[in-house]
Amino acid sequence: MSSASPPPSCRVLVVEDEPSIAENIEYSLRTEGFEVAVAGTGEEALERFAEIAPAFLILDVGLPGMSGFDVCREIRHRSAVPILFLTAREGEIDRVVGLELGADDYVVKPFSPRELTARVRAILRRSAGTATSSTSAPADAGSAGLRVGKLAVDPERRRASWDGVTLNLSRYEFGLAEVFAAHPGRVYTRDQLMDLVWDEPEASLDRTVDAHIKSLRAKLREAGAPDDLIVTHRGVGYSWKETG
Ligand code: CA
Repeated sequence: MSSASPPPSCRVLVVEDEPSIAENIEYSLRTEGFEVAVAGTGEEALERFAEIAPAFLILDVGLPGMSGFDVCREIRHRSAVPILFLTAREGEIDRVVGLELGADDYVVKPFSPRELTARVRAILRRSAGTATSSTSAPADAGSAGLRVGKLAVDPERRRASWDGVTLNLSRYEFGLAEVFAAHPGRVYTRDQLMDLVWDEPEASLDRTVDAHIKSLRAKLREAGAPDDLIVTHRGVGYSWKETG
């Protein structure tokens, strides 16, 4: 194995009921030096998880019986292992990014095995590197954080609130809020938001940005914020309403 190989302890559990997809994933991960176990149902996934304590979980949403969402919830009760969802439909994407499922990322079927392994590596790098890397956003405020109208974003504590109400944001929603709070009024294209907020921009899709904007809007609305804070610029992108 080359020096770029993951450590031998890097076990990945793949939960996927379609054998051909599972085999593809297994093959490409093994090629890159990962140890791989496969489970075809949610129930089996929970058993295998307890047995082998994987360092990473790839989880299909559409499983027979227990869904990927259910499995994720169960796992999250006992572990903070990175989880990457495999989704097949737009509606599933909305649920993945909208609910507080504690997933780290997702890919949409059909995907290339290379894209998938790149994503796994990126997430593992991120969870290994944690606080040392200065990831996202043009945060030009000090430790006091950013404030635009009633939106407060604290990049150091990774916390955001609207009018004192805590916003429970996923990683990417938080990244978007951070970018908007740093430059209210500035119009960002989807590509720019991708570059600023996502770790592997080339591996993602425009609609990923749209889906996260949608869920960020929903969470702001829940916190009592007005509907028009994030402005859609048709054919261009998004901005934060300056007077928000
Ligand atoms: Ca499936």
